[in-house]
Formats: sequence, structure tokens, C-alpha cells
Amino acid sequence: MFNALVVTRDEDKKTAASVQSLELDQLPEGNVTVAVEYSTVNYKDGLCIGPGGGLVREYPHVPGIDFAGTVESSDDDRYKEGDKVVLTGWRVGEAHWGGYAQKARVKADWLVPLPQGLTTRQSMAVGTAGLTAMLAVLALENHGLKQQAADGSAVLVTGAAGGVGSVATAILANLGYQVAAVTGRPDTSDYLTGLGASQIVAREEINETTKRPLESETWAGCVDAVGGAMLARVLGQLKYGSSAAAIGLAGGADLPATVIPFLLRGVNLLGIDSVMQPYENRLTAWQRIATDLPLDKLESMVQPATLSDLPQLGKSILKGGVMGRVVVDVNA
Ligand code: NDP
Repeated sequence: MFNALVVTRDEDKKTAASVQSLELDQLPEGNVTVAVEYSTVNYKDGLCIGPGGGLVREYPHVPGIDFAGTVESSDDDRYKEGDKVVLTGWRVGEAHWGGYAQKARVKADWLVPLPQGLTTRQSMAVGTAGLTAMLAVLALENHGLKQQAADGSAVLVTGAAGGVGSVATAILANLGYQVAAVTGRPDTSDYLTGLGASQIVAREEINETTKRPLESETWAGCVDAVGGAMLARVLGQLKYGSSAAAIGLAGGADLPATVIPFLLRGVNLLGIDSVMQPYENRLTAWQRIATDLPLDKLESMVQPATLSDLPQLGKSILKGGVMGRVVVDVNA
């Protein structure tokens, strides 16, 4: 028997989440069974703990879009009992039972070995949000971020006090970039400065609408977790030839932009998807996380939680009310 957060749905399509005891043979199919140690709370988890947001395929459901733990049994040559592993993406926690459980059964292809230098807890302090932040930084660097920032121009991070934003801020600062952190929560200034932000920008400053499609060339690049009007405004403030990596839509899915920044400033909009990343890309990003993320800063981002805290945390993250990264100790 093991414990899991189970979401059920009744005939009126009303969902409820509670911690329940399950048997191993209730786990979905897969060729690796993992004793889960830690999982995290992401925006998508908030949706899946609640009414599902169209993500959950079948009820009862165990959410948790990422986890780290130890292989308990495997019929795949790449993994053996006792190996430490990390999982992100592949619709685990949405279409397949996820990490809000003491056991998980998944396809070997979805896992990566825990990179050297990271513990399972640290890897989940990073989690899907941090992997996405790293993928965004790698994409920006592949599009010339170093040259764009060589004159000291800052890289803008939107939704900076959230999960992706916090890790992006810490990684960029550690790599030596000036980081301008956009937040709607002024009380997070000290936290963001502690992560390495050199400048705090009030959310309203970037959210203010303007009729001008182009403004002063200000940012060397942008990691954008917010989308919507904020991303549209940022496009007109990027330096000539620089890029914004769009990772999320916390501020809305519409993009009320014009083509002018693309035509007259040659800016790039890079879409970042962590879900369907092939093994090699995930491995590279995890290895870069182990070397490029200041692990001493990681702890300041972490809010610890247990399985029974999840129903409340799910509601909170959907309202933008979670700071940094929530690490769920599924055995606590
Ligand atoms: P969080 O809720 O932790 O952070 C989002 C942050 O965005 C908030 O903390 C807040 O930052 C800011 N924000 C929220 N609402 C608004 C608003 N209405 N206007 C402006 N800013 C707002 O979420 P995550 O960091 O985990 O995820 C961020 C986004 O990225 C989500 O949309 C998520 O679904 C997506 N995502 C995408 C992935 C991918 O593969 N592309 C992977 C992981 C996440 P502050 O308080 O500092 O203003």
C-alpha cells in the first residue's frame, strides 16, 4: 500500500482531491516503477488538482507533473533498482498518473538519470519550472544573448517571483547577466535581489498600454512567463536582433502585438515547450542546471509541503499566490 493524492469526479463533474491509500497493482502501465521522494507544484498541477482545465484524461487521477525518486523495479536496460531518476513532461500528471504519490509507474523514455551534484530534493526545487527556465536560457544563448548583453544591457524576466521566473533569475545572474526582474509583488524585492536580480521592475510599468509599437531598445533578451499584454509590450522594447523566450501565459493567452518589432527590429519570439523535449535535450538541460544554478540560492526559493497541503496549494498557484518553488515531500 502507498499514499497518493487522488482526484475524483462525480456525475455532476464536480472534482474532489484527498489523500488515499492505493495498491501497487492500481498503478498505470509502464516499464519502470519509482519510489517517489519529491514532487512540486506547477501551474498545470493547480489545474489538475481542481477541475482539470481539460488536461486530465481519466478519473480517478493522480496529479503531479514532475517527480524525483529511486527506481524500485525496471524491465528496461537503462535503469536498475536503486538508480536515482527525475521525470518532467510527457503529460505525466495529466494523461498518466503523476508524482503526487509514494509510487509511480512510467515509461523509461520519460525519465532521465539524476545529474551528478544534485539531490532528489534539489532536483525538485528546480523541477519542471526550473528545467523550462534552463531551456529558455539555452534558447536565448543560441540566439546571441551573450553578444546582446555584452554592453551591460539587462535580460528581462517576467513573472519573476513565480517558479519559472525565480529559477531563470538565479541562472541568468549566476551566468553573469544583469537581470531586470518584473514582479507585481513589491514585497518580493529582497527575495529577487537575493537571487541575483540587479533591477526590480514593477509589473504596472510594463503592463501599461502604449500605442507605440516600438520603444527605446532596452533589453538584451527576455524570459517571459506571463504572455498577453506584457509580452506584447516587451517585444517593442527588445534590442535590435534580440529574442524573447515565451514560456507561459500566467497573464493571458492573447498576444495583442503588431509585426513591427519583427520587421523593423528583427526580434525573435522563441517558443519553449518542456513537455515533449527529447531525452538528449532534457539531459543537457539537467546537466547545465547542475553546473549553472547556484545551489546555495535554491533553498531560498523553496516552500516545503506534504501531500495533504496540495488541495490548498493548487488553488493558490492558479491565483499567482505562490512564491518560488513548492517542494512536496510525498513521504512526510
Ligand atoms: P507561477 O504561478 O509560479 O508564476 C507565475 C508568475 O507570473 C506569478 O508568480 C506572477 O509573478 C506572474 N503573474 C501571474 N498572473 C499575472 C498577471 N495576470 N499579469 C502579470 N503577471 C502575472 O507559475 P510558473 O512560474 O510555474 O509558470 C508560469 C507559466 O509558465 C504558467 O503559465 C505555466 O503554465 C507555464 N509553464 C510552461 C512550461 C513550458 O513548458 N512552456 C513549463 C512550466 C510552466 P509576480 O508575482 O512576480 O508578478
